[in-house]
Amino acid sequence: MRHRIYTEKIMAEETELRYDPAAIETKWQQRWASDPALYAAEPADCGKPKYYVLEMLPYPSGQLHMGHVRNYAIGDALARHMWMRGYNVLHPMGWDAFGLPAENAALKNNMPPREWTLGNIAAMKKQMERLGLGYDWATEVTTCLPDYYRWNQWFFLRMYENGLVYRKKSKVNWCPECATVLANEQVVDGCCWRHESTKVEQRDLKQWFLRTTAYAEELLDGLDKLDGWPDKVCTMQRNWIGRSEGTDIDFFLEEINEGPGTSDQGSEVSRPSGEQEADRKRIRVFTTRVDTIFGATSVQLAPQHALVAEFTSANPELKAQVDELLNQQKKATEAGDLGAIEKHGVPTGRLAVNPYNGQRVPIWVANYILADYGTGAIMSVPAHDERDFEFATKYGLEIRRVIQPVEETEGAGSLPFLSEDGVLVNSGDCDGLSCAQAQRHLQRIAVRKGFGAAAVTFRLKDWGVSRQRYWGTPIPMVYCEFECQPGGIVPVPDEQLPVVLPPQVEITQQGGSPLSRVPEFLNTTCPLCRGPAKRETDTMDTFVDSSWYFYRYTDAKNADAPFDSEKAKYWFPIDQYIGGVEHAILHLIYSRFWTKVMRDLGLVENDEPARRLFTQGMVIKDGAKMSKSKGNVVSPDDMVARYGADATRMYALFAAPPDRDLDWQEDGVAGVSRFLGRVWRLMVKYAPVARSARETRSETQNGGAALKLLRKLHQTIAKITLDFEGRWHFNTCVAAIMELVNEIQAADAQLAAGEVPAPVVLELLRTLALLLAPLAPYLAAELWETLGEDGGVFHPGDKGPSPPPQRTQTPILRAPWPVSDPELAKEDELEIPVQINGKLVAVVRVAADADSKTIEAAALAAEKVQSRTAGKTVAKVIVVPGKTVNLVVK
Ligand SMILES: [Zn+2]
Ligand SMILES: [Zn+2]
Repeated sequence: MRHRIYTEKIMAEETELRYDPAAIETKWQQRWASDPALYAAEPADCGKPKYYVLEMLPYPSGQLHMGHVRNYAIGDALARHMWMRGYNVLHPMGWDAFGLPAENAALKNNMPPREWTLGNIAAMKKQMERLGLGYDWATEVTTCLPDYYRWNQWFFLRMYENGLVYRKKSKVNWCPECATVLANEQVVDGCCWRHESTKVEQRDLKQWFLRTTAYAEELLDGLDKLDGWPDKVCTMQRNWIGRSEGTDIDFFLEEINEGPGTSDQGSEVSRPSGEQEADRKRIRVFTTRVDTIFGATSVQLAPQHALVAEFTSANPELKAQVDELLNQQKKATEAGDLGAIEKHGVPTGRLAVNPYNGQRVPIWVANYILADYGTGAIMSVPAHDERDFEFATKYGLEIRRVIQPVEETEGAGSLPFLSEDGVLVNSGDCDGLSCAQAQRHLQRIAVRKGFGAAAVTFRLKDWGVSRQRYWGTPIPMVYCEFECQPGGIVPVPDEQLPVVLPPQVEITQQGGSPLSRVPEFLNTTCPLCRGPAKRETDTMDTFVDSSWYFYRYTDAKNADAPFDSEKAKYWFPIDQYIGGVEHAILHLIYSRFWTKVMRDLGLVENDEPARRLFTQGMVIKDGAKMSKSKGNVVSPDDMVARYGADATRMYALFAAPPDRDLDWQEDGVAGVSRFLGRVWRLMVKYAPVARSARETRSETQNGGAALKLLRKLHQTIAKITLDFEGRWHFNTCVAAIMELVNEIQAADAQLAAGEVPAPVVLELLRTLALLLAPLAPYLAAELWETLGEDGGVFHPGDKGPSPPPQRTQTPILRAPWPVSDPELAKEDELEIPVQINGKLVAVVRVAADADSKTIEAAALAAEKVQSRTAGKTVAKVIVVPGKTVNLVVK
């Protein structure tokens, strides 16, 4: 009997001391869920400074992956920190809920995309809540619901009114078996994903475009002001926008069957008269080096160039060759490796005429010429361009030098000669001009004669937003059969928005746009003439949804406008945007474009959506990206079940600097969990002492042990505060907290002996909870409660009357962030390494504020220094105060 009581007592103690994340986290999750105001943004007149922290919204695949967890752990830590700093924080979450996977799932599981998507959202929201992420769910945005996507339609119409929307023919991937358009990700090795042996064709389809190029210059210039964005993102955007200055020049197509004497290739001919020129087909090329035009020995067309279709229409052999070039280009594009494509080309047998000298040059089609850069045609100048040189050498095309170096330097005689530091030769009356002079001169001639002009070219294209898909925003346009408007195109009036996606559509992924098979959707009446009309059956690219979702968060329930401009004005720009670097280009350019359009529509005042951007690294496993096929996926649910949400989140912050890739190690998560267990036991052990400090409030003298602990504490506060202010070394923040806990544990004897006064114990534990709050919010909340916190700010050194005891519970989230006391944080002594002739020989301890003379004396007095300098001459002593001493000894 006695034995049993004894065992129970031990077990009771062990239970009390066992860190049980599941129990702690479930308890707090329930409490937080019952208090939606906890994470709610406050109105603009709350008197606090605002802080908008945003993580990129996920696609609702049904499962969070570790990359999400890392992204959200960073954002949530920052949001919690800012709440504790007294900010009015907007920390929202939503769902990028349209897209192809829902259709694939529908096909596979025979489940409507809407049902599948909403089910996934519910599951992922549950995961987020279990992780303890502090989102304001009252502002949740779900892009596949009509209350959101109607505003996509509204914006589309506003852009249409402002000339920013147009329709043109464009290439799409077409599977002849499916008889439908394929998304790029449905094209595998040039073949259909469902028909592995069916080659995907390129078809022309009329599609809608947003005129992103209208903002090309501003999108580029704006990057210079985005100093809170990573350089690499700005560089990627600059390259994507790809501005270059040069000249547009029209070569003329040599018509066949024109009559005798016109088919002798490569010969000089007399210039056709201007009248004739106007009638001739032009091949517009863009060049940054018009000064080299007399060295042009061929014209190269992109395989998609309009003229190529003309050339191949009566020439099946050529068509087959061109299709092969297209294929190579597509494969290289898909592999993201277009720059390194092996250059292939085919001669068309046709000739182009150089407008400056009338010379005929062969027209080729080449796989490395891009349809959407410049004009999709180039003049090839092998002597002065690397790529052209490579191509001409491979195919035996003429290489004609037209630029000579000003000075004969080494290598200047070899080709290709790329420098613009030269003079023209073999260039008719331009001979002797410098490259720069020739460029200006030749541009003037082109303008005067009407075959060209100075031009700026952007690599950036207009944004093709048409998708032949079901699960997206319907494009709000109808085609009037009476053609009461040009082309029959009539925009849907605002009062008829939203154009609602029909809920039940048979998804076959065959036979074109699914919406075209829904008569109730397709057939409508013209809003203008009431005649019969058909709806546009394409839906919008899902990048439209993510281009402005973060504005909707500021006013998510607004039924009359996409958002209230006053609210957007208060919250924008976003103070910190966090997401993967894979979005550096499309999403982040489109959302910058959208912001500028909204500004010009008078909806917002900011030019850019986000002041600061942070791109976190990937989460990998065993050196490789996590993927189902590799079998190396780590499930967040598993980690949370085994180690708790706090350990999982904290490990995601601890295991690597946030901008680097993180190799997930389960041992590491277990280690963080053990550490949190240590914190927990420390708290259980000393919370009674800490709580007693409130009752006594007596003046105490802090002794050595207390001062040492306080120093470490205030150094830790300083470090973590600095990191939250922008350095973001959260991994070293966690390490600093671990050191602090080690130091407290190392002082166990002094603590147990009562050598550390209770107010210091309170400050230590209280601050430890506060420092942990952004990183391990569940445990921090539990510690806070264990300490019996009443929320009052309390410093053990406080003089004056004690504040009245109050027991209004302030959640730790609203408790003020601790402030480091620089006096307490100051080191008494520093360790200074002493080097002799560059080699470390000793370390001396000096007072932290010691001057150079004192440090020098200490260094010279060190035993090891004395033994090494005995009998030698100390020629020089270099002291870097607080850092090092260097002796030069001979
Ligand atoms: Zn197919
Ligand atoms: Zn009409």
